[in-house]
Amino acid sequence: YIVCKDVRKAFGSHEVLKGVSTVFRTGEVTVIIGASGSGKSTLLRAINRLEPHDSGSITIDGVEVTDDPRTLQLQRSEVGMVFQQFNLFGHMTVLDNVTLAPRRIRHTSRREANDKAMALLKRVGMQDHAHKYPWQLSGGQQQRVAIARALAMAPKVMLFDEPTSALDPEMVQEVLDVMRELARGGMTMIVVTHEMGFAREVADRVMFFDQGCIAHDAPPAEFFSNPANDRIRSFIGRMS
Ligand code: ATP
Ligand code: MG
Repeated sequence: YIVCKDVRKAFGSHEVLKGVSTVFRTGEVTVIIGASGSGKSTLLRAINRLEPHDSGSITIDGVEVTDDPRTLQLQRSEVGMVFQQFNLFGHMTVLDNVTLAPRRIRHTSRREANDKAMALLKRVGMQDHAHKYPWQLSGGQQQRVAIARALAMAPKVMLFDEPTSALDPEMVQEVLDVMRELARGGMTMIVVTHEMGFAREVADRVMFFDQGCIAHDAPPAEFFSNPANDRIRSFIGRMS
């Protein structure tokens, strides 16, 4: 599990995380919502050290996230991340995108990496596209490949930062379906999203960020049926 204790981060004089403390438990699906600029992405990025925090601590299964290169490489292989912009390598086929990290970092043989990749591509419904390049795929297909690529390192936790926000509406469901299956399989997930339906159906907890703080954290039934305050009520109203 991931423990955040009083995590703070500022860009210049702008405090973006103002003391975030929480625990993300194994197997739990947390959906994070909140206004633009409230610090949601910064927290996800701090968890895998894309953005170092200034103070407080983040630990993954008891090991603190720091700049120590060996620990960091291990932790990054345990924490998969999927971004709004799919970030696939444009000059590589789908299969090579998925096998790159296991081959480079885990030194998995090409054969074994290919077999695992094909199984993952099947899981996200992309097995027939293994030899295509990203530009030959729709946004939803690219995002499903990005999920398979993250899963290829067999992470313990998956972080999703608005994975469907850049997609045309008709492609949102196919990506949410893959994420729903992942959750059903017991994956620990932290998902920043505006998809309130996904939050209601899949999340174990919904966390509301407000100006760098966790303003509310509750199971979805409680979160949506009885909003803790007017800010949350109006946010939910705008999103649903
Ligand atoms: P959104 O819903 O728009 O994605 P967010 O909740 O993810 O918002 P963050 O991306 O965490 O918000 O950003 C929080 C604040 O930190 C914003 O005001 C943003 O402009 C600022 N910020 C983020 N990254 C940087 C950076 N590298 N340098 C300076 N300011 C930054
Ligand atoms: Mg963001």
